[in-house]
Amino acid sequence: MAKRWRRKKRKARKQARKHECLVIKEKLSGIEKDSHKHDWKREIKISQDYICPVCGKRCNDRTMNIHHMRPKCKKGSNSKENTVGWCVECHRNYHKKHGVKISDRYGNPL
Ligand SMILES: [Zn+2]
Ligand SMILES: [Zn+2]
Repeated sequence: MAKRWRRKKRKARKQARKHECLVIKEKLSGIEKDSHKHDWKREIKISQDYICPVCGKRCNDRTMNIHHMRPKCKKGSNSKENTVGWCVECHRNYHKKHGVKISDRYGNPL
């Protein structure tokens, strides 16, 4: 809950002031957490060579999503064991078909 609230607040702040100096200031005052968050996602993608394990397609940072095998709403964590990089198409298809069902890393619901 707290996380969601913080994100909302940050977004509003971002819109309010776009000046670079202020952005840097924000970075120093705690957005570091955010860039860290970004890094672990990238790490997972790199560890998979940007290849979607569901369809075998090669992705890039934009076309690869991080999927939680155990959804966050079911207390899934951001650990490497629980997350996998999927291409946007496979990711979209999975959630369309299976909603928030727990999956393995190859897109099979468990
Ligand atoms: Zn795919
Ligand atoms: Zn997902």
